[in-house]
Amino acid sequence: MKRRKFLKRASLTGIGVAVGTTILANTPSNKVNEIEENLLTNTKENFPIVISTWNVPNATKKAGILIEEGGTSLDAIEKGCMIEEADLNNHSVGNGGRPDRDGHVTLDACIMDKNGNYGSVVYMQNIVHAIAVARKVMEDTPHVILAGKGAEEFAISKGFKKTNLLTEASKKAWEEWKKESNYQPLINIENHDTIGMLAIDKYGDISGGCTTSGLAYKMAGRVGDSPIIGSGLFIDNQVGGATATGMGEEVLKTVGSFLIVELMRQGKSPQEACEEAILRIVTKNDNYKKFQVGYIAINKKGETGYYSIHEYFSVSIYKDNNCINLPSDFFNKTK
Ligand code: ASP
Repeated sequence: MKRRKFLKRASLTGIGVAVGTTILANTPSNKVNEIEENLLTNTKENFPIVISTWNVPNATKKAGILIEEGGTSLDAIEKGCMIEEADLNNHSVGNGGRPDRDGHVTLDACIMDKNGNYGSVVYMQNIVHAIAVARKVMEDTPHVILAGKGAEEFAISKGFKKTNLLTEASKKAWEEWKKESNYQPLINIENHDTIGMLAIDKYGDISGGCTTSGLAYKMAGRVGDSPIIGSGLFIDNQVGGATATGMGEEVLKTVGSFLIVELMRQGKSPQEACEEAILRIVTKNDNYKKFQVGYIAINKKGETGYYSIHEYFSVSIYKDNNCINLPSDFFNKTK
């Protein structure tokens, strides 16, 4: 089903269109429908705009307000993602993230700017704001990726505070998990709250970021797609940007975000490009019923697209002083 029809149905029946709680508490539903309709039909420039993976109103609003006020998309991405990293209730990002199978919380993050610059940290421990460290890697070093201890020491040298990221709640859940030690990432639930964010500022410039503690109870040393350029994130300021969430191994194998941007370059809409990138995964992988992948994309005009393998992926969009959470269309409709 085409996304437009899917959303229409969702709005008409009143199912599935959730409204970012704190932000849209006072927004009448006809206004929500109007925003939704504009996002789908606008053929003019549609920015400033922010789109994030999942229902993350606080992070998306933070970024959205920043660009509404004339800030750059790069600052908006960094500050927006930092909100999720600091949120102890989000167990897939930053502080409070689920640990690996040995009890270590290890963070992956990357950021990309309008000039195609990129910075990333992988397998970093003890520092909350991985996205901000990634930005420092991009701006203050001759490198693009720093890993593990090196990333942590670099962060400390830049004034970041050492913090124990394993909260009591995450420790308890890990101890419970250890009783069976069964590694089976769950579709949509807690393993996949990675925040990927794309923004276009008032000047028409695109930036993006992605930050995660990775899959819960992964092997020590595991790095996912999120901090890897072209997989978890890719921006080309002439074309658009894309970012991913879900089973990182599958995104890595298909270089998903780069693929989406290249498909948009060839003329596909963000929605068509996301759908094709999901198809690449499911057609190569009989196992797709067991894992989730979700993509979001934006093009230079500010048109958005999003698609996932399974139901219940959603996106947060900030536009014209409003933030909405919209359900994504998905591939596996066999239920
Ligand atoms: N993509 C992330 C990873 O594989 C996980 C997620 O989206 O939650 O590390």
